[in-house]
Amino acid sequence: MDRGSSGTTKIGVSAAILSVGDELMLGQTQDTNAKWLASRFATHGVLVGEIRVVLDDVVATESAMRELAARYDIIVMTGGLGPTEDDLTREALRRAMDVSEPLEVDPQALADLDRWFLDRGRPMTVNNKVQALRPKGASCLKNILGTAPGLFANIGAARIWCLPGPPREMEPMFDAQVAVHLPTVAMSTAAVHSFGQGESFLAQQLGSLMLRDRNPLIGTTASGSIVSARIRGVQDAAKAESMERAMQEIEKLWAPYAYGRDQETLAGALGKLLISRSERLSLAESCTGGLAGSLVTAQSGSSEWFAGGAITYANVAKMDLLHVPHDLLSQHGAVSAPVALAMARGCAALLKTEWAASITGIAGPNGGSESKPVGEVFIGICGPRFEAVRRFHYPGDRASIRDRSAKTALALVRFAILGKDAFAAPFIWEWSK
Ligand code: ATP
Repeated sequence: MDRGSSGTTKIGVSAAILSVGDELMLGQTQDTNAKWLASRFATHGVLVGEIRVVLDDVVATESAMRELAARYDIIVMTGGLGPTEDDLTREALRRAMDVSEPLEVDPQALADLDRWFLDRGRPMTVNNKVQALRPKGASCLKNILGTAPGLFANIGAARIWCLPGPPREMEPMFDAQVAVHLPTVAMSTAAVHSFGQGESFLAQQLGSLMLRDRNPLIGTTASGSIVSARIRGVQDAAKAESMERAMQEIEKLWAPYAYGRDQETLAGALGKLLISRSERLSLAESCTGGLAGSLVTAQSGSSEWFAGGAITYANVAKMDLLHVPHDLLSQHGAVSAPVALAMARGCAALLKTEWAASITGIAGPNGGSESKPVGEVFIGICGPRFEAVRRFHYPGDRASIRDRSAKTALALVRFAILGKDAFAAPFIWEWSK
């Protein structure tokens, strides 16, 4: 199909979302309708090519409708259907449809409005009656949760659905009255998650896998230092196989940083490895104050592989609980490789676990110095015939330094279990001075 004014050929159904409202343009309301609609379209395999936001202005709305109708098969618009002066969707639609007659009353919509007010024992205002108006050739859509009916019309070859702005009214109307007209092909989505490298490096590793005309389509996102590859494709038996192949390819290219798929967490992936070896972990935490333990215990069933931990914030706790020698602390300071190693050793002995990880560092914003700046963190790992300390320098605020430290400790235990090569893999926050 090719109707694009830009001359581009479109495959399948394309859609645009049009949000109307001064409050959206003033930053007073977030355009959550567009976000919700875009994800609904995606589940139907419909590509949203454009999301537009315009003011409550009849000319701006009309021209947005015309432009989008020239380029897309489907437009879903929200807002501007209320009873007040600034609700101009009906009039803008009439103009965009090139209808010269004035708006006309939809008898069914008027009857529904009557019933709405009757049921609530409230008089209907003249303003409300405006809501039963529609351009000639358009039809009204039932709104059982509010007074503003929606509108459906054709603008040239495009179909447009105008829905009320409030999400609680718009969402059920979309599901009941718009989604039924969309293709039934289901999109399937999958994700591969990684930790330890930056998004640009990881995206580069994917190379041609990220080409925009590929099916399945692969893109990357980053959140909380977890970089994920998101894979999206039309769901059928042949495609399911190619989704699986794509995931395996990504896991290979992102090894050893890729730790899991879909809902899998870093702690969950580590837990699986430990369970398969009948081994357990303990954690000695200083600057993270239990954050790593919290990530682990957020995982249901972690008691099978996690013994517990020690939050040893002060030196005295490091000495008393983990038997870190006083000399080591006074000679090297609490934030040092020897102390990190002693903490991990002490923790493994205290809780009798095969594996232990320790975290000691300066989370800031205070307490840094030239030789030990904010963000410097040592992570010690102790395991069967294995001992190592790694030194990191995390950017960011206290919360992100602590978060990355906790996640790095779990990732490092996983690497250590996977073997020498995996453990040698550099992290993006590796100390480089
Ligand atoms: P009403 O009959 O309630 O006036 P309407 O169709 O005229 O419905 P608007 O007046 O444009 O809708 O918006 C009503 C409310 O709906 C807004 O104040 C806002 O809270 C919410 N809303 C509108 N558009 C959006 C949007 N794009 N995303 C999230 N919320 C929205």
